[in-house]
Amino acid sequence: MPKVYIRTYGCQMNERDSEQVARMFTEAGYTVTSNENDAAVILINTCSVRDQAEQKALGKMNNMMHQGRARENVVYGFMGCMAQSRGDQLFKVLPRLDVVVGTQKYHRVLEYVDAILQRRLEARMDDPSHSLRGANVCDIAEEEGSQNTICDHLAKPREAAVFVSIMQGCNMRCSFCIVPDTRGKERSRPIRDIIAEVRHLADHGVKEVTLLGQIVNLYGRNEFARIDGKSPFVQLLEAVHEVTGIERIRFTSPHPIGYRDDLITAFTYLPKLCPHIHFPLQSGSDRILREMRRPYHSARFIEICEKMQAARPGLAITTDLIVGFPGESEEDFRATLDIVERLQFDNAFVFRYSKRHNTPAADMPGQLGEATKEHRNQRLLEVVNRIAIAKNAALVGTRQQVLCEGPSKTNAARLTGRTPHNKIVIFDGDPARCVGQLLDIQIEESGGFSLFGSLGSNGVR
Ligand code: SF4
Repeated sequence: MPKVYIRTYGCQMNERDSEQVARMFTEAGYTVTSNENDAAVILINTCSVRDQAEQKALGKMNNMMHQGRARENVVYGFMGCMAQSRGDQLFKVLPRLDVVVGTQKYHRVLEYVDAILQRRLEARMDDPSHSLRGANVCDIAEEEGSQNTICDHLAKPREAAVFVSIMQGCNMRCSFCIVPDTRGKERSRPIRDIIAEVRHLADHGVKEVTLLGQIVNLYGRNEFARIDGKSPFVQLLEAVHEVTGIERIRFTSPHPIGYRDDLITAFTYLPKLCPHIHFPLQSGSDRILREMRRPYHSARFIEICEKMQAARPGLAITTDLIVGFPGESEEDFRATLDIVERLQFDNAFVFRYSKRHNTPAADMPGQLGEATKEHRNQRLLEVVNRIAIAKNAALVGTRQQVLCEGPSKTNAARLTGRTPHNKIVIFDGDPARCVGQLLDIQIEESGGFSLFGSLGSNGVR
């Protein structure tokens, strides 16, 4: 059977969607290969959040398409966010492209690719000189219920931590963000379907689930009722907490407007909720937050963080920050620095603002030069890194529970895993005994952003 190569750019949601597409191909008899030179089908799952991610995907596809005449029969496809936002324009940029499939149509990729391969086979049988390239497919339409088509996750052998997509899309329309265009309106899967998936994962040895959504804590707000003052998201957390075998629950990414008291209180009575939240702030300046169309003030963000730290002492908080948003003054930027110092984030993803087409911020006055953006980026990173390094250093000498995920990415001879606070720990151990297990690890050293430790004699719980 043909081999399919899938390359993924972007967020965990994309990783998750690619896994599902790979699974559909495998079930149809294809083999998934990690060698692009070997593949009859090459698919790239794309990201539009930054221009750089789009350029990378276009460049990679272009390179793969021009690796010689022998590859004339390969089917090339783009999936995901860039496919959604650029649609059939992509055929003009890359004329050898065969398939463009948007974010609500992942479940149809196999059908489109299969049809093309079949058509080519038949055409070649009739006329061996027939050109292998021909009609292409572009499907970026909205599809009702598409949030339910990417589900039924099958755990890989000894996979311990898994992402579960609970909703798609976002109605918020932040002025810098292309997601509402690429992922569409908010649509949530029913709790019973998600729980069935989580139970299945737990039955296959999964111990940690991360619930995924672009605006995850507003899950179900348009579809499902509040019950006893609890939002659908808190109802879902309670239901996942009940699943035997699941020992850790995380979620990403929440929005401050969905961080109400019911969610904060959930951290006091649901011990499986990990003591770490990724909580995007974006800017410390209220003026810039308003321009970003983020409907909260920095004071409200601080209040939520402080309530969360009271609900779960020792909570780790990470965040997303944008520097160089149009009109950002030195004073606005300093407000971001101040809040980072005040809240002592465990870490932060710092993004230099870059224009995304069809977003309001792209046309705002006061666009900043690259030198200013870069300078602020460096200044902010210095503060963020200093705090992150100090927080990691403070863990040296402690024992941490680590869920072992497999070989370390930087040294395959060692193992890696995460603490409940989402700190990466690297250690030595027997993969056959450790992978997929919760281990007690003595932290011996901090490498700045990773911790190094060793397995105690009673290491495997
Ligand atoms: S809430 Fe997040 S996904 Fe939605 S528009 Fe804002 S940044 Fe984009």
